[in-house]
Amino acid sequence: MNLEEAMALERQHLLNLYTPIRMPMVIARGEGARLWDTEGREYLDFVSGGRAVTGLGHCHPKVVEAIRKQAGELIHVSNDFYTEPQLLLAKRLSELFGGRCFFCNSGAEAIEAAIKLARKRAYKASGPEKHEIVTALKSFHGRTMGALAATGQPKYHHGFQPLPGGFMHVPYNDIDALRNAVGASTCAIMLEPILGESGVYPATPEYLKAARELCDCSGAVLIFDEVQTGLGRTGRMFAYEHFGVEPDVLTLAKGLGAGVPIGAMLAREPAASAFEPGDHASTFGGSALMAATALAVLEVIESEGILANAARVGARLAEGLRAIQQKTPLIETIRPWGMMIGVDLTRPLAATVKERCIARGLLIITVGDRMLRLLPPLILTEPEADRGLGLLAEVLSELASAEAG
Ligand SMILES: *Cc1c(COP(=O)(O)O)cnc(C)c1O
Repeated sequence: MNLEEAMALERQHLLNLYTPIRMPMVIARGEGARLWDTEGREYLDFVSGGRAVTGLGHCHPKVVEAIRKQAGELIHVSNDFYTEPQLLLAKRLSELFGGRCFFCNSGAEAIEAAIKLARKRAYKASGPEKHEIVTALKSFHGRTMGALAATGQPKYHHGFQPLPGGFMHVPYNDIDALRNAVGASTCAIMLEPILGESGVYPATPEYLKAARELCDCSGAVLIFDEVQTGLGRTGRMFAYEHFGVEPDVLTLAKGLGAGVPIGAMLAREPAASAFEPGDHASTFGGSALMAATALAVLEVIESEGILANAARVGARLAEGLRAIQQKTPLIETIRPWGMMIGVDLTRPLAATVKERCIARGLLIITVGDRMLRLLPPLILTEPEADRGLGLLAEVLSELASAEAG
């Protein structure tokens, strides 16, 4: 199928949701940090499948092997049954985070589970008045109604009101605003330790510490949304490890299944005990195929030094970007967090840069018209990092000289 055929089929048969962000190719195959389209063109994938999902690269052999093996044995039974992969995955994640797990199929679902857990915990401890959830402006928590209400960006709410009530949004990294917002009726503070979709903006350690203290004083739970930052993306297993602040509840999804849809909400005590049988459920959540895949992902992260690689190659990318910044006037700021890097441009050229990178075989995404976002796979090698940097440098110097000329 070529691009024209794909676009025609999309127009006819898909709801019109993704047209503006679609890249101009039909992807057919992937391996490691590379993708190939149906015309045989090769691309260096600096976005991990587009949205920070395929952190181990495309079709990592050990993940593929785990999927093949599990698919031949048992794909799914619902949570009416015990299965080994689900329990082993829960054990592994509990060892990493120190809580207990609920499995679902996406980031938004993990957020919904966290919202319900926080509400139930507060309801049992203090009654129905304690139901408010404080989140940050510019946050992104997903598109289902609860996750959407949590998301602190009016542009995503527009046209979909009424949204579920009980959400308050405060400016990110503003400790006073957080203090003013949190009170007896607060059941949770939910934060991304590093804003992802908004463009790689980290919390300050003081902000997260203040959130922790406010939760401890008010009996609210602290939820960290690590759907994007979790599982090695920032060079640590979880991004909160950079800040020295521990949450009660953690949401995971994107990197957990290496592309297979799985989400998880992990909760420590006493929050974890708030749920009772029947309070929440998922038909597919934690089914054997997804769980076996996620187990393989965790096993690869640990056995192949993935965190160290993400930190090392991420630092090399940051260094390379700073070198490019010296040479062209187009880069304003660089915000590197392992394999999650925001690059602000000095001019509104993001779409042009993206387009020209794609034409040269480098895949990146943008935020607004001035920001580039790099989310390379955690397995990226140094030569691949250098190749990507070289392509980006070519594009930027071409644009800079076009402007100068
Ligand atoms: C992507 C994302 C979500 C939503 O995940 P989906 O799987 O798309 O529902 C939630 N929170 C954060 C921080 C994300 O980056």
